[in-house]
Amino acid sequence: MFWRPTLSAQTVDRFNSLSFEMGPIRPPSEAFSLLVRATRNCPWNRCEFCHTYKGERFELRPVPEIEKDIATAKAISDEIQGLSRRTAQREPLRHVAAAIYSSPRFNASVRSVALWLYGGAQSVFLQDANSLVMRTPDLVAVLQRLRETFPGLARITSYARSKTAARKSHEEMRDIATAGLSRVHIGLETGHTPLLACIQKGAAAEDHIQGGRRVAAAGISLSEYVMPGLGGKRFSRGHVEDTARVLNAIGPDFIRLRSLVVRQDMPLSARLAEGEFEPLSEDEVVAEIGELLQRLECRSQVKSDHVLNLLPEVEGQLPEDKPRMIGVIHSYLAMPAERRLQYRLGRRAGYYEKLADMADPARSDAVRSLLARLGDDGEAVEGAIQSLKTRFI
Ligand code: SF4
Repeated sequence: MFWRPTLSAQTVDRFNSLSFEMGPIRPPSEAFSLLVRATRNCPWNRCEFCHTYKGERFELRPVPEIEKDIATAKAISDEIQGLSRRTAQREPLRHVAAAIYSSPRFNASVRSVALWLYGGAQSVFLQDANSLVMRTPDLVAVLQRLRETFPGLARITSYARSKTAARKSHEEMRDIATAGLSRVHIGLETGHTPLLACIQKGAAAEDHIQGGRRVAAAGISLSEYVMPGLGGKRFSRGHVEDTARVLNAIGPDFIRLRSLVVRQDMPLSARLAEGEFEPLSEDEVVAEIGELLQRLECRSQVKSDHVLNLLPEVEGQLPEDKPRMIGVIHSYLAMPAERRLQYRLGRRAGYYEKLADMADPARSDAVRSLLARLGDDGEAVEGAIQSLKTRFI
């Protein structure tokens, strides 16, 4: 049982007098990272499948402002650690951090630092969409300040655009790596240049290859995000073939799958409404992932850590785990249509986390009763699945 604090209003107020700026998102793998906002919003902001920063203006933040935020995060961390030492039973830091994180009495900054401490205070994620767009000396200064302030950090990571990475010289990228940036997450989405143009990614396949290689050559761990389903029916073949070609040419440390879901506030939704974008069914997206895996020849770790992916167990190290991952896909696609529908609904409603959960009678009964409530109306079931999916983006 975790510690339940009885904190005076004065103590809570003291904590809440400390706050720093945070951006809206981070990669799923950075759930326990301290969030440090190095820039605001996205300097590109045109991708048609992305809603996150639409309507927001990109801004570089002055380095002293970012340094002040880092100092505030440190002050909050010191307060939480001090509180842990002062509790009557010298409550373990993790318990105190968990209690603060889960309490609505604390502001977002305090809760975020608490979550970071709960996770072991191992990593920092630099927000927002493309920290490499900063002047190299500024980025280096921020990284150095982070390393000085939190010497125990194992990892500092950030999102970046491949074109921006390609524009940095080898020397600049080495300086950034030496200063402490240890992983970059790039939104590759696809390696198919006509599709990249269509969705306004602002990069061609060659930019992806150059940018990815520039990061890797500096010794920075590289994570490439791929978006199954992005090409719809029109580009599916090219999407699979060229994405595999580009990933094989880069050889990233991680290939992260994040299946497409179209939300109303994405520019792509207008093309969907006009019938210009013909989406793949979820089963077709699964098949597309299988074809992509079949073509991959790089030594990369495949991660399916985004909640929008239907089959999260399609994860593993290439090349050795390729047969197992493709086997999961074949098992799913070989199920009768009504079992696949049951799995899709159960997964989106939170009853199933993986295919094997279908063998659990309690979970499956819950899904069957949900299906019964939706009746025999296929459209109602598909509508429910779609609305459950959009909750997560
Ligand atoms: S570069 Fe990234 S954050 Fe910016 S619009 Fe594209 S997907 Fe969104």
